[in-house]
Amino acid sequence: MNFHGKNNFKMGPIGDHVLEFDLFTPDGKLLTCSRNSSSDVFFAAIGGFGMLGCFTRIAIQMKRVESGLLEVYALATSSLGEMIREFEARMEKADYLVGWIDCFARGTKLGRGQIHEAHYLHSADDPDPQQTLRIENQELPDTIFGVIPKSIVWRLMGPISNNIGMRLLNWAKYTASATIGNRKTVRQSHGGFAFLLDYVPNWKFVYRPHGFIQYQSFIPAENAERCFAAQLTECHRCGIIPYLGVFKRHRKDGFLMTHGVDGYSLALDIPITNRNREPLRSLTQRLNRIVLDSGGRFYFAKDSTLDAETARSYLGDAAITEFKRLKRVLDPDNLLQTDLSQRLFGDF
Ligand SMILES: Cc1cc2nc3c(=O)[nH]c(=O)nc-3n(C[C@H](O)[C@H](O)[C@H](O)COP(=O)(O)OP(=O)(O)OC[C@H]3O[C@@H](n4cnc5c(N)ncnc54)[C@H](O)[C@@H]3O)c2cc1C
Repeated sequence: MNFHGKNNFKMGPIGDHVLEFDLFTPDGKLLTCSRNSSSDVFFAAIGGFGMLGCFTRIAIQMKRVESGLLEVYALATSSLGEMIREFEARMEKADYLVGWIDCFARGTKLGRGQIHEAHYLHSADDPDPQQTLRIENQELPDTIFGVIPKSIVWRLMGPISNNIGMRLLNWAKYTASATIGNRKTVRQSHGGFAFLLDYVPNWKFVYRPHGFIQYQSFIPAENAERCFAAQLTECHRCGIIPYLGVFKRHRKDGFLMTHGVDGYSLALDIPITNRNREPLRSLTQRLNRIVLDSGGRFYFAKDSTLDAETARSYLGDAAITEFKRLKRVLDPDNLLQTDLSQRLFGDF
């Protein structure tokens, strides 16, 4: 899937750190690929959603960190435009940047939210790096406020797992981040910073019984504010409001089926109900149109709404033709298929 983190703007996706891999292909061969050897397969299999073969060995260039802690600075932003301006101003120095958006806010408050900017610590800045680097200090605590077992928190959220409750929760989070939490710096473990939602284990159960979709689109920087404002406005217009919005900065990469852009992504967690199932389907089609009109891209790992035509529009004929060529060479009997591949590419 060639996944990305909150440092995508600086480090690129995981594929940018892969030196070499072995791919076991359906035609029975073990192919060693790198940027210099079988490079066409290298750039297509990474991000190739498992369609070209099975990675059996991956060599990755790692990076040494000197402390298990990050220094995390929180900043409230009153609009989408302000969030983008703050990202642009902080990108050069920050090691990680991520934004949260209150999707219930509208009008002049549309896109308000909070940025978290994180920096690595040098060992001299950490009183006990040997300790903070230990795996047990990267795991999230079992209780909230030292008493409430985290395993039951999703049950406590039951009464607010609806539009009114989530509006209130988003409002409370924004109000806290714009007042007591604003412009504050804390130290947090890498695990705590990277896996924030997992502070509530089984948070996905909040979306019971019908689940949710995550709708994430990637938009060139110059079109991002306009596109995401249009998406949020469209959600409000049809009364389907995402419960969570997460904002990230990205950069371009060289992979064939990439979701990478020099710009931004907004991931919207949208609950599914019996009543909104059909309206949600047509909402995502309108959101897709806005993305295509903005020169944007999509991400297979998060996709459940694209059709073949939309995939072709953003990937382009040349990329799809090349992917299909490799598919025919490596998997002549079309052994590897998924629901996603059939929906977007048929029988290749
Ligand atoms: C809560 C949540 C948050 C997420 N946040 C992010 C995020 O911040 N950034 C991001 O980039 N993604 C994010 N994702 C998406 C996630 O990174 C991808 O779904 C990822 O691919 C999951 O890997 P997996 O091995 O669990 O999935 P799998 O479904 O097992 O694999 C994913 C794909 O890789 C293929 N594959 C698996 N193993 C192999 C192999 N050995 N060789 C070749 N192909 C293989 C599969 O065919 C499939 O297409 C998130 C997902 C969730 C559920």
